[in-house]
Amino acid sequence: MAKKVVIVGTGLGGLSTALRLTTLGFEVEMVEKFHQPGGRLNKLQHSGYTWDMAPTFFSMSYEFKELIDFCGIDKPFEFYALDPLYKVNFSNSKRYFTIHKDIDKLAEEFDGIENEFAEKMYRYLEKTGKLFHDVENRIIRRNFNPNYALDILRGNSRG
Ligand SMILES: Cc1cc2nc3c(=O)[nH]c(=O)nc-3n(C[C@H](O)[C@H](O)[C@H](O)COP(=O)(O)OP(=O)(O)OC[C@H]3O[C@@H](n4cnc5c(N)ncnc54)[C@H](O)[C@@H]3O)c2cc1C
Repeated sequence: MAKKVVIVGTGLGGLSTALRLTTLGFEVEMVEKFHQPGGRLNKLQHSGYTWDMAPTFFSMSYEFKELIDFCGIDKPFEFYALDPLYKVNFSNSKRYFTIHKDIDKLAEEFDGIENEFAEKMYRYLEKTGKLFHDVENRIIRRNFNPNYALDILRGNSRG
């Protein structure tokens, strides 16, 4: 008889754990205190507007691929890269900046505002990319520890 597991919460963590456990042959029951599944991955609609309740971007889309490969299921949706990503407007200004993924297009948007924009942006992305993967490998892929916030600030983990 399959072992039964109860998962409290139907956020991304609970849902992906349920998929992995059922793949491994466990019988899974999930409980949720909110009126719908998804946890923070939900939306709020009011007065004709829609807000993401938390996540907006798939920052680690390769994790999703690993999950569906592990479970041997078909990808339930396709990823589409947004272009432009979004528009921003600063207070006291009527100008909107269109944020493109393409650095050369983005540089055109900030032409006359930031000198050598593309060179600076490539340097910034290289630096923050290293930090992102450092944090990912040293912190995100490990179990929670009470020094989590300090570890993130230091970009370091004492395990
Ligand atoms: C403002 C914001 C922006 C974010 N932006 C991004 C982004 O752009 N990209 C990205 O990848 N990630 C983003 N994140 C992170 C992402 O939202 C979370 O990592 C992810 O949704 C967390 O999933 P989870 O399953 O761990 O927790 P949750 O989504 O919080 O799920 C926990 C579930 O457990 C339920 N629950 C709790 N206690 C009980 C109980 N006692 N009984 C029954 N049910 C219970 C809750 O109702 C909830 O449904 C963002 C988070 C925030 C807050």
